[in-house]
Amino acid sequence: MTVSTVKILRRNPKGCKDEEFNNWPEEPFDEMDSTIAVQQYIQQKIRKDPSNIDEILNPPKGQDLGTWKYEHMRQFCLELNKLTVKLQAECNQESCSQMTATEQWIFLCAAHKAPKECPAIDYTRHTLDGAAALLNSNKYFPSRVTIKEASVAKLGSVCRRVYRIFSHAYYHHKTIYDEFENESFLCKRFSVFSIKYDLMSIENLIVPIAGMDFNDIKKVNSIPVTMCETALVMENPVVVTTVPPTVATNSDGIIATTVLRSSSDSSEA
Ligand SMILES: [Zn+2]
Ligand SMILES: [Zn+2]
Repeated sequence: MTVSTVKILRRNPKGCKDEEFNNWPEEPFDEMDSTIAVQQYIQQKIRKDPSNIDEILNPPKGQDLGTWKYEHMRQFCLELNKLTVKLQAECNQESCSQMTATEQWIFLCAAHKAPKECPAIDYTRHTLDGAAALLNSNKYFPSRVTIKEASVAKLGSVCRRVYRIFSHAYYHHKTIYDEFENESFLCKRFSVFSIKYDLMSIENLIVPIAGMDFNDIKKVNSIPVTMCETALVMENPVVVTTVPPTVATNSDGIIATTVLRSSSDSSEA
């Protein structure tokens, strides 16, 4: 009797049928022998059930958190391109001449030497291109296995900028947003991710997610592991203080529609 030695090919071969697309057996994380194992693991979880946000955002044991955040950010940008393609059907320079969500702010595009008021669809493309350039930059992210803390710190501003794509879609192209979100749960995942890893303040998460209270997620995730461990050995209960809300400023390429623009974030890009 011969033992089958056929290696499972975990990729889409040319011309594969619809039912074969992305359809291969799961692989345990510790058997993924590759420098892009974290990405493969995240994508495997998403393919299995995109609505299971907790499972997708829950890092494997011992996983370096910097890399974990970085790979999720890459994945968000990847999937946001799909939303952008859908938005192109109705978002153009005439329909949306500025990048806005609610009436309160106009977002300036940081992809230029001097930040400028790009139309929403241009802002979307420029911001995703800028995010891709940063995330693939050899200077800040030369490795996908270990990432310097200073580079991880750059993820917050990427987060804030790309989030505006969700908010523009939600407030100006609700049908497209709903159709996309019902399938991908991407804004939901992005919101939980941003809160869990403290990348955005709750006040800036302006797209409501049905059945979800952002403050509850914040509470669940606000106790650092070290503190949990300490709590087990301490006699007195640990008092967890809540973080005061961050006041929105105009230092991130945002201008209030009632005031003149006074600063930019191009230096962060
Ligand atoms: Zn638009
Ligand atoms: Zn632009």
